[in-house]
Amino acid sequence: MLNKDHPRYQSLVYREKIVEAHENGILADSGMIAHGRGETFDYLIGEKTTPNSQNTIDVAACYFLTRKHPVLSVNGNTTALVSEDIAKLSELLDIPVEINLYYRTPERIENIERVYKDLGVKEILGTDEDDFIDTPNLNGPRSPVSIEGIKKSDLVFIPLEDGDRAEKLYDLGKDIISVDLNPLSRTAQTSTVTIVDNIVRVIPALIESVKKYENYDKTDIQEKIDLFNNKTNLNIAIKDIIKRFE
Ligand code: ATP
Ligand code: MG
Repeated sequence: MLNKDHPRYQSLVYREKIVEAHENGILADSGMIAHGRGETFDYLIGEKTTPNSQNTIDVAACYFLTRKHPVLSVNGNTTALVSEDIAKLSELLDIPVEINLYYRTPERIENIERVYKDLGVKEILGTDEDDFIDTPNLNGPRSPVSIEGIKKSDLVFIPLEDGDRAEKLYDLGKDIISVDLNPLSRTAQTSTVTIVDNIVRVIPALIESVKKYENYDKTDIQEKIDLFNNKTNLNIAIKDIIKRFE
């Protein structure tokens, strides 16, 4: 049993979820390492949603509310940590969840699909083995990107995605919203909107933000989008980390 008084209690809870997902065949070995990299950056940003990330989450909500076919791409880490909130977001926006794995195996696809099925997600994509983006430059163990949903989508939400795959989506001309605690990663640098924050805080905040902006005028929502600049957002995220060191 974890001790609630432990100063790193929350962080330990998430570690347990990660370990459990690994044992349940949802998370690949490298997913555990990616989580550790995320923890480091979370420590540096103070393990809280900064005013700048809250603003970026609001911009992301506005994107979701103005696009015709957004899709929520999920991987092992996202499923390990926030599958319930992903299911809620998918229902709220009435958009599909698409399984996209860096290390794709039929077993992991099946295990992850079951998680979202059990949570009542209506449309789960990325389970068809034949339907992929042609990615000749993505070699090694890295899987291509599933396209059932992404091909038709005008907005792709990619939490914790790998840089090469993010670049591939960007090359297809898709608008990308990423969630990445590292503001310097290639994923962070190539996205339309980069939320530099922990996925465990982002999805609940995003749900609240969608509920708030749903009631706004289309012109106000568009203005929020137009005023946003991702380069500025990333620079602020980096400055916030530097401030912590000082
Ligand atoms: P890139 O491929 O984009 O250059 P990378 O190779 O450094 O980045 P990957 O291992 O491909 O990183 O992807 C994992 C990314 O997810 C890392 O940038 C890490 O900081 C981030 N990350 C890990 N856990 C979380 C989390 N809980 N919330 C948000 N981001 C996270
Ligand atoms: Mg990478």
